[in-house]
Amino acid sequence: MALERTFSIIKPDATKRDLTGKIVAKFEEAGLRVVASKRIHLTKAQAGEFYAVHKERPFYDELCEFMASAPIVAQVLEGENAIAKNREVMGATNPADAAPGTIRAEFAESVGENSVHGSDAPETAAVEIAYFFSGLELVG
Ligand code: ADP
Repeated sequence: MALERTFSIIKPDATKRDLTGKIVAKFEEAGLRVVASKRIHLTKAQAGEFYAVHKERPFYDELCEFMASAPIVAQVLEGENAIAKNREVMGATNPADAAPGTIRAEFAESVGENSVHGSDAPETAAVEIAYFFSGLELVG
């Protein structure tokens, strides 16, 4: 399988608790290289655009408020099978269901404040990477 890239966010609940380093270590231990990274504070409108696919879900407003409540760290991860591997390292959306050793099992506070985002497919990875980074900022 060829090298693949995926998009990751370390969410506000995790940046607030200074868990960035511990979460990046989990990615690197799994063979995912950080090829782009920036710490930014989204506006609610920017969070809303990023999560537009969830617009009709009952938790959309709460999710946008949360994502704009403190800085995030947006990253591009590269590795073999990176999209699926990142989802595996992240664990299930609800930390109560996340497998032991996963980021969400260890760090997430709730189903909403669950420490990380990761793309779920090649198409979404491409769109999400382009929303946050220019080609010049991806350094493999
Ligand atoms: P994932 O992030 O695992 O791909 P989803 O795409 O289903 O999960 O949801 C996107 C994000 O929306 C979740 O990571 C979480 O922050 C939030 N979310 C999902 N379900 C709920 C819920 N029931 N209540 C509050 N927030 C939720």
